[in-house]
Amino acid sequence: MSTLSQTAAGSATAPAHPFLSVRDLYVHFATEDGTVKAVDGLSFDLERGSTLGIVGESGSGKSVTNLAVLGLHNPRNTTIRGEILLDGQELTGASERQLNRLRGKKMAMIFQDSLAALSPFYTVGRQIAEPLMKHTGASRREARARAVEMLRKVGIPQPELRVDDYPHQFSGGMRQRAMIAMALVCDPDLVIADEPTTALDVTVQAQILDLLKDLQQETGAAIIIITHDLGVIAKTADQVMVMYAGRCVERGTVTEVMRRPQHPYSWGLLSSVPRLDSAVEVPLVPIPGAPPSLLAPPPGCPFHPRCRFTGQVPGDACRTVRPQLPEPREEGRSGAACHLTAEQKEAVFTEQIRPRLR
Ligand code: SF4
Repeated sequence: MSTLSQTAAGSATAPAHPFLSVRDLYVHFATEDGTVKAVDGLSFDLERGSTLGIVGESGSGKSVTNLAVLGLHNPRNTTIRGEILLDGQELTGASERQLNRLRGKKMAMIFQDSLAALSPFYTVGRQIAEPLMKHTGASRREARARAVEMLRKVGIPQPELRVDDYPHQFSGGMRQRAMIAMALVCDPDLVIADEPTTALDVTVQAQILDLLKDLQQETGAAIIIITHDLGVIAKTADQVMVMYAGRCVERGTVTEVMRRPQHPYSWGLLSSVPRLDSAVEVPLVPIPGAPPSLLAPPPGCPFHPRCRFTGQVPGDACRTVRPQLPEPREEGRSGAACHLTAEQKEAVFTEQIRPRLR
């Protein structure tokens, strides 16, 4: 199913609008040193039942985007422009009270650090039950029974006993499962998972990602997974958005972006991660340099100070003209924001990048 582009055009059952629609979003922070342009003109759509993976290095704007969707930025130092429509409801102008009603019930977040996200002073069961009581008016007894049910659903053994444990009595993997139970207890339509498996070992990581997919199939929730790990994207996402310096530089289906990426930054990301299935002699190629300061992003293409291919673009376009992301096509693929021609991208990918990805 298409998540980044349009709804299924022409379908009799297609909804009138995407479930989540982000249009021309800007999130800027006022700091003592100037304005940090953390998100700089971002647009995407997401449908129910689909998973969008957002990938990029630290500071690329992935988490900031999603905190804006949840309305969790401090309004005193944050300027948000653009449109965020959740099921047709505009969120950028919503009051704190309205957002509070939506958070937990309609949209929920799974954080990376479960130890920090769960309160050490309350039992796991109470923390799962709390949003249910708040949003549905369930009694304490009903909410506790549901907490036990949720713990069972996310694979916690002996949930009737473990419901009264405190977070420190759970292992890291169990805490992450408990956070998923907490996020999903009110059956939210949108779940945002920010690096949900980063702190976990590989086996538990795979179990948590499988669990998220299973629960999505059961509830039909839309999921956004924020990660720097392309393996997580490959395992969970239907669509991918690659972010750099607060912008989307490439988007498409997971197969397209993982198998045939078109942007030099995506090439760099894919070439710099180890692949279990590749020949051992293929060396990893780190992306040179560091992400730019968002106080003063480079003119032209923000990736140009780190890009190996600027010489292939005529004139000084990479340094002076900002490349635009093409409009999405019907199937979701919309390509990359890069001045290289389609033929140049194809030639570089085939000759230089693909051999490394084998
Ligand atoms: Fe590299 Fe130029 Fe493409 Fe930017 S526009 S990614 S600098 S080739």
